[in-house]
Amino acid sequence: MGNITLRNVSKVFGAHAVIPSIDLNINDGEFVVFVGPSGCGKSTLLRLIAGLEDVSDGEIVIDGKNATELPPAQRGLSMVFQSYALYPHMSVRSNIGFPLKMANEDKAVIDKKVADAARVLNLTDYLDRKPRQLSGGQRQRVAIGRAIVRQPKAFLFDEPLSNLDAALRVNMRLEISQLHQDLKTTMVYVTHDQVEAMTMADKIVVLNRGRIEQVGSPLDLYHKPDNLFVAGFIGSPR
Ligand code: ADP
Ligand code: MG
Repeated sequence: MGNITLRNVSKVFGAHAVIPSIDLNINDGEFVVFVGPSGCGKSTLLRLIAGLEDVSDGEIVIDGKNATELPPAQRGLSMVFQSYALYPHMSVRSNIGFPLKMANEDKAVIDKKVADAARVLNLTDYLDRKPRQLSGGQRQRVAIGRAIVRQPKAFLFDEPLSNLDAALRVNMRLEISQLHQDLKTTMVYVTHDQVEAMTMADKIVVLNRGRIEQVGSPLDLYHKPDNLFVAGFIGSPR
């Protein structure tokens, strides 16, 4: 399961209502992309879902259970950070297994889960290397591996490809889409890149100044934008 519902969720920093009030449903297995210009509140919204920020008001429900007050580790979600969040002194194996080690899992369980994740991510031959001995794409895959071993209800990605070069970005985009097809786990993916949104999403949430302008499939947004902001941002002809 990986159903996430936001009810009336708001976030205020000081005097600034960064997110005035959002209602949103993310269905189990869906690939949902939050897209919008820099500063519109994408990361804040993702961090609220992850529990890395507390909501100012409203409710976050995960698989029917009120998760608003739960600490991040108890929400069953895995955040995928940019690849530079890897531990440089640790092997790929230890980096991927790190969350399990922290959770005091048995070594045999850790080895098995790390091996499974490495297979899915084509990292089997690289488990003994250090991050600096990997390409940018391989490093990003290690960061994803660290999320996979926790078998989360949903993966949360915050612009995971923004520090990769253009060619590699296209590649990783395809790899993450493939991973979603293989795992069928809910993915919530933040980007300011319309092309990423249009090519990866089942459902796009267009954000502007902390508000939802429109929610729909890529085709819906392209052919039936609700307003000029969406049309302009998605690049449709209206
Ligand atoms: P995005 O990810 O879409 O670029 P953010 O969610 O990072 O946008 O930021 C949305 C707004 O909230 C910005 O105006 C930003 O300055 C503000 N903001 C984000 N985090 C904080 C914080 N911890 N304290 C104060 N303001 C913040
Ligand atoms: Mg951001």
